[in-house]
Amino acid sequence: MTLQELEEFLSRWGKERYRARQLFRWIYQKHVDDFAEMTDLSKELRGILASSCRVSGFPAERVETSVDGTEKYLFRLGDGEAVESVLIPDEGRRTLCISSQVGCPLLCGFCATGAAGFRRNMTSAEIVQQACFAAKRLAEREERLSNVVFMGMGEPLLNVPEVSRTTGILLSQFAFGISGKRVTVSTAGIVPEMMPLALGYPVSFAVSINAARDDLRSVLMPVNRKYPLKEVVAAMRRIPLQSGRKVTAEYVLLAGVNDSAEDALALSRLFRGARIKVNLIPFNAHEASTYRAPEAGAVDRFRDVLIAGGVQTIRRERRGADIRAACGQLRIAAGGKRG
Ligand code: SAH
Repeated sequence: MTLQELEEFLSRWGKERYRARQLFRWIYQKHVDDFAEMTDLSKELRGILASSCRVSGFPAERVETSVDGTEKYLFRLGDGEAVESVLIPDEGRRTLCISSQVGCPLLCGFCATGAAGFRRNMTSAEIVQQACFAAKRLAEREERLSNVVFMGMGEPLLNVPEVSRTTGILLSQFAFGISGKRVTVSTAGIVPEMMPLALGYPVSFAVSINAARDDLRSVLMPVNRKYPLKEVVAAMRRIPLQSGRKVTAEYVLLAGVNDSAEDALALSRLFRGARIKVNLIPFNAHEASTYRAPEAGAVDRFRDVLIAGGVQTIRRERRGADIRAACGQLRIAAGGKRG
């Protein structure tokens, strides 16, 4: 439940609204899931909650740790499906990459998640649970979850109601209290859903672009036939931004496919004058794809052309590749049901 839903639920029992905030703190800040331990609630309320509610929660079925400190969690959901999340420690930051769907319907040719198809949307309880598990684990080491990115399995903008509910809980000062700057929703460019989410929550946006021409983008990302580049970039330009902020354009570099200097020049023209920064992601290999990672020289050349074109550009570090936790490597087959 969102805070508001919880307040409404409690008021039906004649309870004060602030009880909802107390419950949020117990669940999300103190990581307590047994109502009996929530000692600032009356015995009567604890009894009501125990008999009619449940704090959903499941520990990771498997935890893998990379040589670089990245951790991958496999969560088994109530119906036997499985999803993965990745915790990436980086200097002061602790970033959790979460999934919003079991599998993905978009079938981008370079991504492992789509290769096994789409199973279903996740509920907000399941999505937020990934953050609860990571936050509790971090608290045990006196660390805090600082950032959340919707860059795991699935397309968050095809599951907006549940993603919005989750976002509300991540941002709530009575729950995770993470600022919208540090919550990033990454989309393949589901144009009609971008603005409503941006207006509802002050989150950061990342959009997977991956090609500067429609013909190539449609090959890499079939969703481009529905929402072509021009519309996607126009939607990126319309997103309201606080001063100094930018929308991120993600660009997976595939050797010999989209990594030439001409591609970089076309991309810089596409973004001219827009508050967009580019995040270059060298392709991470996996069995479901025959694409290849770019040469180091091609990555540098691509970056240099963008920068010369006035586009702020950063290169995403590859993290957790040894445990198949890098971008685009999460897949249903990793312990989940097979289709
Ligand atoms: N569906 C959303 C969320 C997934 S985010 C989206 O498309 O944005 C995953 C990011 O990783 C996307 O930018 C995607 O383009 C990128 N990606 C997918 N497979 C990859 C791979 N094998 N190597 C590198 N990046 C990949």
